Amino acid sequence: MAVYFPVQCPDCHSTDVIKYGKSSNGKQRYRCCNPNCLRATFSINLDYLGRDVKTKQKIVEMNLNGSSVRQIARVLKISTATVIKELKKSRK
Ligand SMILES: [Zn+2]
Repeated sequence: MAVYFPVQCPDCHSTDVIKYGKSSNGKQRYRCCNPNCLRATFSINLDYLGRDVKTKQKIVEMNLNGSSVRQIARVLKISTATVIKELKKSRK
């Protein structure tokens, strides 16, 4: 299943990274494509960067694009309560 993760290089925070095989413990490894970055490869915890973060970003993104709470909840298949909660958190 192809899933978009907002993978960032831990050093330069560039999102210009490519998949670079798996590490010995089964974690996905990535390679930073930023020519100015000294880091070659890194791995991330996909559990942490998974659905949760992606959904939160989507909520904020869709809200900025003018989607209503109901629309966001329907598209992301989450409850309106979750949407409202996340939007409140994002409005600091
Ligand atoms: Zn980097």
